[in-house]
Amino acid sequence: MRIKVTQPIVEMTGDEMADVMWGWIKKQLIEPYLDMTCITFDLSMGNRERTLDRVTHEAAAAIREYGVGVKCATITPDEARVAEFGLTRMWKSPNGTIRGLLGGTLFRAPIVCANVPRLVPSWRKPIMVARHAFGDQYAATELQIPRAGVLKLVFEPDDGTRAEEHVIHRFDGPGVALGMFNLEKSIQDFARAVFAYALSVGLPVFFTTKNTILKIYDGQFKRLFAEIFAHEFASQFAARDLTYEHRLIDDMAAYLLKCEGGFVWACMNRDGDVFSDQAAQGYGSLGLMTSVLMCPDGRTVLAEAAHGTVTRHFRAWQRGETISTNPVASIHAWTRGLAHRARLDDTPEVTRFAETFERACIATIESGMMTKDLAIAVHGTSNPSREQWLSTQDFITEVAKRFEADSAT
Ligand code: NAP
Ligand code: MG
Repeated sequence: MRIKVTQPIVEMTGDEMADVMWGWIKKQLIEPYLDMTCITFDLSMGNRERTLDRVTHEAAAAIREYGVGVKCATITPDEARVAEFGLTRMWKSPNGTIRGLLGGTLFRAPIVCANVPRLVPSWRKPIMVARHAFGDQYAATELQIPRAGVLKLVFEPDDGTRAEEHVIHRFDGPGVALGMFNLEKSIQDFARAVFAYALSVGLPVFFTTKNTILKIYDGQFKRLFAEIFAHEFASQFAARDLTYEHRLIDDMAAYLLKCEGGFVWACMNRDGDVFSDQAAQGYGSLGLMTSVLMCPDGRTVLAEAAHGTVTRHFRAWQRGETISTNPVASIHAWTRGLAHRARLDDTPEVTRFAETFERACIATIESGMMTKDLAIAVHGTSNPSREQWLSTQDFITEVAKRFEADSAT
Protein backbone atom coordinates (compact mmCIF):
# COMPACT_ATOMS: atom_id res chain seq x y z
CA MET A 1 0.00 0.00 0.00
CA ARG A 2 1.26 3.44 -0.88
CA ILE A 3 1.91 6.00 1.85
CA LYS A 4 -0.39 9.01 1.76
CA VAL A 5 1.25 12.45 1.52
CA THR A 6 -1.56 14.71 2.68
CA GLN A 7 -0.45 18.01 1.10
CA PRO A 8 0.99 18.63 -2.38
CA ILE A 9 4.66 19.06 -3.26
CA VAL A 10 5.76 21.51 -5.93
CA GLU A 11 7.95 19.70 -8.44
CA MET A 12 10.15 21.47 -10.99
CA THR A 13 11.51 19.43 -13.87
CA GLY A 14 14.65 20.58 -15.67
CA ASP A 15 17.15 19.86 -18.42
CA GLU A 16 19.48 17.29 -19.96
CA MET A 17 20.90 14.33 -17.96
CA ALA A 18 19.58 15.68 -14.67
CA ASP A 19 16.07 15.71 -16.12
CA VAL A 20 16.34 12.21 -17.60
CA MET A 21 17.47 10.90 -14.18
CA TRP A 22 14.71 12.89 -12.49
CA GLY A 23 12.15 10.98 -14.55
CA TRP A 24 13.69 7.60 -13.65
CA ILE A 25 13.76 8.47 -9.96
CA LYS A 26 10.16 9.60 -9.93
CA LYS A 27 8.94 6.53 -11.81
CA GLN A 28 10.95 3.93 -9.89
CA LEU A 29 11.45 5.37 -6.41
CA ILE A 30 8.63 7.83 -5.73
CA GLU A 31 5.43 6.93 -7.56
CA PRO A 32 5.31 3.22 -6.58
CA TYR A 33 5.47 4.06 -2.86
CA LEU A 34 3.73 7.39 -2.35
CA ASP A 35 0.18 8.52 -2.94
CA MET A 36 0.98 12.16 -3.50
CA THR A 37 -0.12 15.17 -5.51
CA CYS A 38 2.76 16.87 -7.33
CA ILE A 39 2.14 20.31 -8.73
CA THR A 40 4.60 20.14 -11.59
CA PHE A 41 6.26 23.04 -13.42
CA ASP A 42 8.30 22.36 -16.53
CA LEU A 43 11.40 24.56 -16.10
CA SER A 44 13.16 23.09 -19.14
CA MET A 45 14.93 25.65 -21.32
CA GLY A 46 12.34 25.21 -24.09
CA ASN A 47 9.39 25.85 -21.81
CA ARG A 48 11.01 28.84 -20.14
CA GLU A 49 11.46 30.31 -23.62
CA ARG A 50 7.85 29.46 -24.65
CA THR A 51 6.40 31.06 -21.52
CA LEU A 52 8.87 33.98 -21.56
CA ASP A 53 10.09 32.65 -18.18
CA ARG A 54 6.64 33.10 -16.64
CA VAL A 55 6.77 29.44 -15.58
CA THR A 56 9.69 30.17 -13.22
CA HIS A 57 7.71 32.91 -11.50
CA GLU A 58 4.64 30.67 -11.24
CA ALA A 59 6.76 27.90 -9.71
CA ALA A 60 8.13 30.30 -7.07
CA ALA A 61 4.60 31.43 -6.18
CA ALA A 62 3.49 27.79 -5.84
CA ILE A 63 6.45 26.96 -3.57
CA ARG A 64 5.48 29.82 -1.32
CA GLU A 65 1.84 28.66 -1.31
CA TYR A 66 2.51 24.98 -0.54
CA GLY A 67 5.70 25.35 1.51
CA VAL A 68 7.74 22.60 -0.19
CA GLY A 69 9.50 22.53 -3.57
CA VAL A 70 11.82 19.96 -5.15
CA LYS A 71 13.80 21.10 -8.17
CA CYS A 72 15.74 19.36 -10.91
CA ALA A 73 18.86 21.07 -12.29
CA THR A 74 18.23 23.51 -15.12
CA ILE A 75 20.32 25.19 -17.80
CA THR A 76 21.39 28.76 -17.10
CA PRO A 77 21.77 30.10 -20.63
CA ASP A 78 24.96 31.68 -21.94
CA GLU A 79 25.68 32.79 -25.55
CA ALA A 80 26.11 29.18 -26.69
CA ARG A 81 22.75 28.13 -25.18
CA VAL A 82 21.01 31.13 -26.76
CA ALA A 83 22.16 29.81 -30.15
CA GLU A 84 21.46 26.13 -29.27
CA PHE A 85 17.84 26.77 -28.22
CA GLY A 86 17.16 29.82 -30.43
CA LEU A 87 16.34 31.89 -27.34
CA THR A 88 14.82 35.36 -27.69
CA ARG A 89 16.63 36.43 -24.51
CA MET A 90 19.43 35.19 -22.28
CA TRP A 91 17.01 34.18 -19.52
CA LYS A 92 18.29 34.48 -15.96
CA SER A 93 19.18 31.46 -13.82
CA PRO A 94 15.89 29.96 -12.52
CA ASN A 95 17.60 29.34 -9.18
CA GLY A 96 18.53 33.01 -8.96
CA THR A 97 15.01 34.09 -9.96
CA ILE A 98 13.32 31.78 -7.44
CA ARG A 99 15.73 32.77 -4.66
CA GLY A 100 15.13 36.43 -5.50
CA LEU A 101 11.36 35.92 -5.20
CA LEU A 102 11.41 33.75 -2.06
CA GLY A 103 14.43 35.20 -0.24
CA GLY A 104 16.14 32.87 2.15
CA THR A 105 19.39 31.08 2.73
CA LEU A 106 21.08 28.24 0.87
CA PHE A 107 22.45 25.32 2.85
CA ARG A 108 24.76 22.86 1.16
CA ALA A 109 24.35 19.45 2.72
CA PRO A 110 26.69 16.55 1.89
CA ILE A 111 25.60 12.90 2.00
CA VAL A 112 28.24 10.96 3.92
CA CYS A 113 29.05 7.34 3.01
CA ALA A 114 31.61 5.49 5.11
CA ASN A 115 33.47 4.02 2.13
CA VAL A 116 33.71 7.19 0.01
CA PRO A 117 37.00 8.81 0.96
CA ARG A 118 36.85 12.36 2.27
CA LEU A 119 39.77 14.74 1.88
CA VAL A 120 39.39 15.40 5.60
CA PRO A 121 39.11 11.86 6.98
CA SER A 122 37.67 12.96 10.33
CA TRP A 123 34.50 14.36 8.65
CA ARG A 124 32.25 11.44 9.55
CA LYS A 125 29.12 13.61 9.74
CA PRO A 126 27.87 16.35 7.43
CA ILE A 127 28.91 19.98 7.74
CA MET A 128 26.15 22.17 6.35
CA VAL A 129 27.50 25.51 5.21
CA ALA A 130 25.07 28.44 5.08
CA ARG A 131 26.20 31.57 3.30
CA HIS A 132 24.74 35.01 3.93
CA ALA A 133 24.50 35.92 0.24
CA PHE A 134 23.90 39.63 0.68
CA GLY A 135 26.11 42.71 0.93
CA ASP A 136 29.67 43.06 2.28
CA GLN A 137 32.34 42.72 -0.41
CA TYR A 138 29.70 41.61 -2.96
CA ALA A 139 27.90 44.96 -2.96
CA ALA A 140 30.90 47.13 -2.15
CA THR A 141 32.11 50.39 -3.71
CA GLU A 142 35.76 50.26 -4.64
CA LEU A 143 38.02 53.18 -5.27
CA GLN A 144 41.40 53.50 -6.90
CA ILE A 145 43.39 56.17 -5.04
CA PRO A 146 45.61 57.75 -7.71
CA ARG A 147 47.59 60.22 -5.58
CA ALA A 148 47.92 61.80 -2.14
CA GLY A 149 44.70 62.93 -0.42
CA VAL A 150 42.21 62.24 2.38
CA LEU A 151 39.75 59.31 2.31
CA LYS A 152 36.61 59.84 4.43
CA LEU A 153 33.55 57.85 5.47
CA VAL A 154 30.47 60.12 5.56
CA PHE A 155 26.90 59.32 6.62
CA GLU A 156 24.20 61.94 5.89
CA PRO A 157 20.91 61.16 7.67
CA ASP A 158 17.69 61.66 5.65
CA ASP A 159 16.13 63.53 8.56
CA GLY A 160 18.53 66.43 8.13
CA THR A 161 20.37 65.89 11.41
CA ARG A 162 24.12 66.41 11.42
CA ALA A 163 26.25 64.22 9.15
CA GLU A 164 28.79 61.88 10.67
CA GLU A 165 32.27 61.97 9.17
CA HIS A 166 35.38 59.88 9.79
CA VAL A 167 38.83 60.14 8.29
CA ILE A 168 39.74 56.64 7.06
CA HIS A 169 43.25 57.40 5.89
CA ARG A 170 45.51 60.27 4.76
CA PHE A 171 47.20 58.93 1.63
CA ASP A 172 50.65 60.29 0.85
CA GLY A 173 50.67 58.32 -2.42
CA PRO A 174 48.54 55.93 -4.53
CA GLY A 175 46.52 53.08 -3.01
CA VAL A 176 43.07 51.46 -3.01
CA ALA A 177 39.94 51.80 -0.90
CA LEU A 178 36.67 49.95 -0.32
CA GLY A 179 33.34 50.87 1.23
CA MET A 180 30.89 48.13 2.19
CA PHE A 181 27.65 47.75 4.09
CA ASN A 182 24.98 45.36 5.30
CA LEU A 183 21.40 45.66 6.54
CA GLU A 184 20.05 44.72 9.94
CA LYS A 185 16.95 43.17 8.33
CA SER A 186 19.00 40.95 6.05
CA ILE A 187 21.21 39.75 8.90
CA GLN A 188 18.14 39.00 11.05
CA ASP A 189 16.50 37.04 8.20
CA PHE A 190 19.72 35.09 7.79
CA ALA A 191 19.88 34.27 11.49
CA ARG A 192 16.24 33.10 11.51
CA ALA A 193 16.78 30.90 8.46
CA VAL A 194 19.88 29.33 10.05
CA PHE A 195 18.25 28.58 13.39
CA ALA A 196 15.04 27.28 11.80
CA TYR A 197 16.96 25.00 9.46
CA ALA A 198 19.19 23.70 12.25
CA LEU A 199 16.09 22.83 14.29
CA SER A 200 14.56 21.06 11.31
CA VAL A 201 17.62 18.85 10.83
CA GLY A 202 18.45 18.57 14.54
CA LEU A 203 22.00 19.96 14.40
CA PRO A 204 23.87 22.54 16.51
CA VAL A 205 24.93 25.89 15.00
CA PHE A 206 28.21 27.74 14.74
CA PHE A 207 28.33 31.32 13.44
CA THR A 208 31.68 32.84 12.57
CA THR A 209 32.89 36.44 12.32
CA LYS A 210 36.06 38.41 12.97
CA ASN A 211 34.47 40.64 15.60
CA THR A 212 37.75 41.07 17.49
CA ILE A 213 38.98 43.21 14.57
CA LEU A 214 35.71 44.56 13.12
CA LYS A 215 34.14 45.37 16.47
CA ILE A 216 31.24 47.38 15.02
CA TYR A 217 30.64 45.66 11.65
CA ASP A 218 31.11 42.00 12.54
CA GLY A 219 30.09 42.88 16.09
CA GLN A 220 26.65 43.83 14.76
CA PHE A 221 26.27 40.41 13.10
CA LYS A 222 27.31 38.68 16.31
CA ARG A 223 24.92 40.75 18.42
CA LEU A 224 21.91 40.22 16.10
CA PHE A 225 22.51 36.46 16.00
CA ALA A 226 22.72 36.34 19.80
CA GLU A 227 19.51 38.40 20.19
CA ILE A 228 17.47 36.35 17.76
CA PHE A 229 18.72 33.14 19.29
CA ALA A 230 17.88 34.26 22.83
CA HIS A 231 14.42 35.64 22.01
CA GLU A 232 13.15 33.21 19.40
CA PHE A 233 15.07 29.93 19.50
CA ALA A 234 16.90 29.28 22.78
CA SER A 235 14.10 27.27 24.42
CA GLN A 236 13.48 25.13 21.32
CA PHE A 237 17.21 24.43 21.05
CA ALA A 238 17.44 23.54 24.74
CA ALA A 239 14.45 21.22 24.46
CA ARG A 240 16.30 19.29 21.75
CA ASP A 241 19.71 19.43 23.41
CA LEU A 242 21.11 21.61 20.62
CA THR A 243 23.55 24.47 21.04
CA TYR A 244 24.46 27.76 19.39
CA GLU A 245 27.97 29.15 19.55
CA HIS A 246 29.75 32.12 17.97
CA ARG A 247 33.35 31.51 16.97
CA LEU A 248 36.13 33.51 15.41
CA ILE A 249 36.56 32.61 11.74
CA ASP A 250 40.26 31.74 12.17
CA ASP A 251 39.51 29.44 15.14
CA MET A 252 36.87 27.75 13.01
CA ALA A 253 39.23 27.31 10.04
CA ALA A 254 41.59 25.40 12.33
CA TYR A 255 38.82 23.43 14.08
CA LEU A 256 37.48 22.38 10.68
CA LEU A 257 40.51 20.22 9.95
CA LYS A 258 40.09 18.12 13.07
CA CYS A 259 36.32 18.11 13.72
CA GLU A 260 34.01 15.21 12.88
CA GLY A 261 31.25 17.42 11.40
CA GLY A 262 27.63 17.23 12.44
CA PHE A 263 26.73 20.93 12.58
CA VAL A 264 25.35 23.87 10.64
CA TRP A 265 27.96 26.54 9.97
CA ALA A 266 26.59 30.00 9.27
CA CYS A 267 29.08 32.16 7.37
CA MET A 268 29.32 35.80 6.40
CA ASN A 269 29.21 36.35 2.64
CA ARG A 270 32.91 36.11 1.74
CA ASP A 271 33.61 33.26 4.19
CA GLY A 272 30.63 31.31 2.84
CA ASP A 273 31.82 31.73 -0.74
CA VAL A 274 35.19 30.24 0.18
CA PHE A 275 34.17 27.56 2.66
CA SER A 276 31.10 26.21 0.85
CA ASP A 277 33.37 25.25 -2.05
CA GLN A 278 35.98 23.83 0.29
CA ALA A 279 33.42 21.71 2.13
CA ALA A 280 31.84 20.48 -1.13
CA GLN A 281 35.22 19.32 -2.40
CA GLY A 282 36.20 17.87 0.97
CA TYR A 283 33.23 15.47 0.95
CA GLY A 284 34.25 13.81 -2.29
CA SER A 285 31.73 14.14 -5.14
CA LEU A 286 29.27 16.67 -6.55
CA GLY A 287 26.88 13.75 -6.93
CA LEU A 288 26.67 13.57 -3.11
CA MET A 289 25.95 17.24 -2.44
CA THR A 290 22.43 18.56 -1.95
CA SER A 291 21.27 22.07 -1.55
CA VAL A 292 18.35 23.35 0.51
CA LEU A 293 16.87 26.85 0.39
CA MET A 294 15.27 27.80 3.72
CA CYS A 295 13.07 30.87 3.59
CA PRO A 296 12.97 33.43 6.42
CA ASP A 297 9.37 32.46 7.26
CA GLY A 298 10.90 29.28 8.72
CA ARG A 299 8.31 27.25 6.78
CA THR A 300 9.10 27.33 3.06
CA VAL A 301 11.82 24.98 1.78
CA LEU A 302 13.19 24.24 -1.69
CA ALA A 303 15.43 21.17 -2.08
CA GLU A 304 17.65 20.31 -5.05
CA ALA A 305 20.91 18.64 -6.04
CA ALA A 306 23.90 20.99 -5.96
CA HIS A 307 25.18 19.80 -9.36
CA GLY A 308 24.08 21.03 -12.79
CA THR A 309 22.41 19.30 -15.73
CA VAL A 310 25.55 17.17 -16.39
CA THR A 311 25.71 18.09 -20.10
CA ARG A 312 28.71 15.88 -20.90
CA HIS A 313 26.86 12.75 -19.74
CA PHE A 314 23.71 13.85 -21.61
CA ARG A 315 25.64 14.03 -24.88
CA ALA A 316 26.95 10.50 -24.27
CA TRP A 317 23.40 9.32 -23.46
CA GLN A 318 22.15 10.88 -26.73
CA ARG A 319 24.83 8.84 -28.52
CA GLY A 320 23.37 5.72 -26.91
CA GLU A 321 26.22 5.10 -24.45
CA THR A 322 25.73 3.52 -20.99
CA ILE A 323 25.29 6.31 -18.48
CA SER A 324 26.58 6.27 -14.92
CA THR A 325 25.55 9.67 -13.60
CA ASN A 326 25.14 9.68 -9.83
CA PRO A 327 21.42 10.10 -8.92
CA VAL A 328 21.94 10.26 -5.14
CA ALA A 329 21.82 14.06 -4.77
CA SER A 330 18.64 14.17 -6.89
CA ILE A 331 17.06 11.36 -4.83
CA HIS A 332 17.92 13.38 -1.72
CA ALA A 333 16.24 16.46 -3.19
CA TRP A 334 13.02 14.38 -3.06
CA THR A 335 13.65 12.88 0.39
CA ARG A 336 14.64 16.23 1.94
CA GLY A 337 11.53 17.83 0.39
CA LEU A 338 9.35 14.96 1.62
CA ALA A 339 10.87 15.09 5.11
CA HIS A 340 10.00 18.78 5.27
CA ARG A 341 6.47 18.08 3.96
CA ALA A 342 6.13 15.51 6.75
CA ARG A 343 7.20 18.04 9.40
CA LEU A 344 4.69 20.62 8.15
CA ASP A 345 1.87 18.05 7.93
CA ASP A 346 2.91 16.09 11.04
CA THR A 347 2.92 12.77 9.19
CA PRO A 348 5.56 10.50 10.81
CA GLU A 349 5.04 7.74 8.22
CA VAL A 350 6.27 10.13 5.50
CA THR A 351 9.27 11.04 7.68
CA ARG A 352 10.01 7.32 8.04
CA PHE A 353 9.72 6.84 4.28
CA ALA A 354 12.26 9.64 3.61
CA GLU A 355 14.68 8.34 6.26
CA THR A 356 14.43 4.73 5.08
CA PHE A 357 15.09 5.83 1.51
CA GLU A 358 18.14 7.90 2.45
CA ARG A 359 19.51 4.95 4.42
CA ALA A 360 18.85 2.64 1.44
CA CYS A 361 20.90 4.93 -0.86
CA ILE A 362 23.82 5.04 1.56
CA ALA A 363 23.67 1.30 2.35
CA THR A 364 23.70 0.49 -1.39
CA ILE A 365 26.86 2.56 -1.86
CA GLU A 366 28.44 1.16 1.31
CA SER A 367 27.77 -2.38 0.05
CA GLY A 368 30.01 -1.55 -2.94
CA MET A 369 27.33 -0.81 -5.55
CA MET A 370 27.81 2.68 -6.93
CA THR A 371 28.03 4.93 -9.98
CA LYS A 372 31.28 5.61 -11.75
CA ASP A 373 32.11 8.94 -10.05
CA LEU A 374 32.14 7.18 -6.68
CA ALA A 375 34.00 4.12 -8.02
CA ILE A 376 36.73 6.54 -9.13
CA ALA A 377 36.94 7.96 -5.60
CA VAL A 378 36.61 4.64 -3.76
CA HIS A 379 39.08 2.68 -5.90
CA GLY A 380 41.48 5.58 -6.36
CA THR A 381 41.74 5.20 -10.12
CA SER A 382 40.50 7.44 -12.92
CA ASN A 383 39.49 4.37 -14.92
CA PRO A 384 37.70 1.81 -12.73
CA SER A 385 36.88 -1.55 -14.29
CA ARG A 386 33.34 -2.22 -15.53
CA GLU A 387 32.54 -4.53 -12.56
CA GLN A 388 33.32 -1.68 -10.17
CA TRP A 389 30.41 0.55 -11.20
CA LEU A 390 26.72 0.41 -12.13
CA SER A 391 24.75 2.34 -14.71
CA THR A 392 22.41 4.99 -13.29
CA GLN A 393 19.36 2.81 -13.93
CA ASP A 394 20.91 -0.30 -12.37
CA PHE A 395 21.93 1.74 -9.34
CA ILE A 396 18.36 3.08 -8.96
CA THR A 397 17.04 -0.49 -9.21
CA GLU A 398 19.43 -1.61 -6.44
CA VAL A 399 18.29 1.26 -4.21
CA ALA A 400 14.64 0.25 -4.78
CA LYS A 401 15.45 -3.39 -3.90
CA ARG A 402 17.22 -2.38 -0.71
CA PHE A 403 14.42 0.01 0.23
CA GLU A 404 11.85 -2.78 -0.16
CA ALA A 405 13.96 -5.20 1.88
CA ASP A 406 14.42 -2.59 4.65
CA SER A 407 10.73 -1.61 4.70
CA ALA A 408 9.69 -5.26 4.96
CA THR A 409 11.65 -5.76 8.20
P1 NAP B 1 27.55 20.01 -13.90
O1 NAP B 1 26.31 19.72 -14.63
O2 NAP B 1 27.45 20.01 -12.41
O3 NAP B 1 28.66 18.96 -14.35
C1 NAP B 1 30.05 19.18 -14.28
C2 NAP B 1 30.79 17.85 -14.17
O4 NAP B 1 30.71 17.40 -12.82
C3 NAP B 1 30.19 16.73 -15.00
O5 NAP B 1 30.64 16.76 -16.33
C4 NAP B 1 30.63 15.52 -14.21
O6 NAP B 1 32.03 15.26 -14.41
C5 NAP B 1 30.51 15.99 -12.79
N1 NAP B 1 29.16 15.73 -12.23
C6 NAP B 1 28.21 16.64 -11.88
N2 NAP B 1 27.15 16.03 -11.37
C7 NAP B 1 27.40 14.71 -11.40
C8 NAP B 1 26.66 13.56 -11.02
N3 NAP B 1 25.43 13.65 -10.49
N4 NAP B 1 27.22 12.34 -11.20
C9 NAP B 1 28.44 12.23 -11.73
N5 NAP B 1 29.20 13.28 -12.10
C10 NAP B 1 28.67 14.51 -11.94
O7 NAP B 1 28.13 21.45 -14.32
P2 NAP B 1 28.33 22.10 -15.76
O8 NAP B 1 28.69 21.06 -16.76
O9 NAP B 1 29.23 23.23 -15.52
O10 NAP B 1 26.92 22.70 -16.13
C11 NAP B 1 25.98 22.08 -17.00
C12 NAP B 1 24.71 22.89 -17.04
O11 NAP B 1 24.12 22.88 -15.73
C13 NAP B 1 24.90 24.35 -17.40
O12 NAP B 1 23.96 24.72 -18.40
C14 NAP B 1 24.65 25.11 -16.12
O13 NAP B 1 24.02 26.33 -16.37
C15 NAP B 1 23.73 24.20 -15.37
N6 NAP B 1 23.80 24.28 -13.88
C16 NAP B 1 22.63 24.25 -13.21
C17 NAP B 1 22.61 24.24 -11.83
C18 NAP B 1 21.28 24.19 -11.13
O14 NAP B 1 20.23 24.12 -11.77
N7 NAP B 1 21.27 24.16 -9.82
C19 NAP B 1 23.80 24.24 -11.12
C20 NAP B 1 25.01 24.25 -11.84
C21 NAP B 1 24.98 24.26 -13.22
P3 NAP B 1 32.62 14.26 -15.51
O15 NAP B 1 32.21 14.82 -16.84
O16 NAP B 1 34.08 14.34 -15.25
O17 NAP B 1 32.04 12.89 -15.28
MG1 MG C 1 32.74 30.11 -4.15
